[in-house]
Amino acid sequence: MRLLGAHMSIAGGVDKAIDRGMLLGCNAIQIFVKNNNQWFGKPLPDEDIKSFSAKRKDSGILVFGHTGYLINLASINPDNYEKSLRSMREELEKSEALKLPFIVLHPGSHGGQGEEEGIKRVAQSLNQLLKDTAGYKVKIALETTAGQGTGLGYKFEHFKQWFELVSSPERLGVCVDTCHIYAAGYDIKSKTGYKTTWDGFDKLIGFKYLLAFHLNDSKNILGSRVDRHEHIGQGTLGEQVFKRLLNDKNFDHLPMVLETPKDPEMNMDIMNLELLRRLIH
Ligand code: MN
Ligand code: MN
Ligand code: ZN
Repeated sequence: MRLLGAHMSIAGGVDKAIDRGMLLGCNAIQIFVKNNNQWFGKPLPDEDIKSFSAKRKDSGILVFGHTGYLINLASINPDNYEKSLRSMREELEKSEALKLPFIVLHPGSHGGQGEEEGIKRVAQSLNQLLKDTAGYKVKIALETTAGQGTGLGYKFEHFKQWFELVSSPERLGVCVDTCHIYAAGYDIKSKTGYKTTWDGFDKLIGFKYLLAFHLNDSKNILGSRVDRHEHIGQGTLGEQVFKRLLNDKNFDHLPMVLETPKDPEMNMDIMNLELLRRLIH
C-alpha cells in the first residue's frame, strides 16, 4: 500500500490532524508541531500527546513534521540566528515527544553572505542542534527548494556538502518537493530528465537518505526558481511525472504527501488524492 496523503491542519490539537487524515483515507500525513508563523509555541498538553499516539496507533497513519517558516539556520543577523536555533530546538523537542520519525526543514537563505558561507553556516547550526539533542530519535529532513531569492538547497550538491560537514549524518535526511526541484531546474517531467535527476540524486546524496516526497504540481516553468504550488495535473508538470513517481520501485516505501492549495472542507485534497490514487498501477 502506498504511503499517500496530505499536509493536515492541527487546529484544535495535534490529534485532530489524524482525524482529518483518516477522513480522507490517508496512509501518511504531514503536520506542523506548532504555529508555523511564530517563533515559539506553548508546550503540547500531555492529553494531546496521549490522544495523538492512540489515534496514530489505531489508524496506522505515518505522521511526520514540518518546521515553522521563520527559522533560518544560515542567518547572519545575531538576533534572528539565536531565535532560529531556539525555535528549531523547540521543533525537535515537540517532534520527539510525539515520536515523529523526522521533521522537514527548509535549509535556509544565505541573505547575501554568499552560497559557500551560507552552506557552512547551515552545517554549523545543524551540528549544534544535533549535539543539543543527542540521543533523540527524530531526524531532520532537509527539503529541496526552488532556489527563490538567496535560498539554499536548490542543488543536490548543497546537500552533498551538508552530509559531509555534519558530524552525525545518520540523523539527517532529505525531503524532495516535486514543484521545487522542477522550478530549480531538474527536468523530472521528461523521461530522460527523470532518470538523470534520480541518478544524480543517488550519486550525490544517496537514496538511503531520502525520507519523503512533497507531491505538488508547479505554477511556474522549469528553472523559473519560483515556488508556487498547483493542483496535481493542472500545472507545468502534469500528471505523467506523478504516475512515474507513484510507480517507481525506488520510492515505493516512502511517504508522499500533498501541499497543494487547500479549502476548509478539504475538497481540493480529496480531488488531488483521487487523481493520484488513479495513477497507481
Ligand atoms: Mn516546505
Ligand atoms: Mn514542500
Ligand atoms: Zn513550496
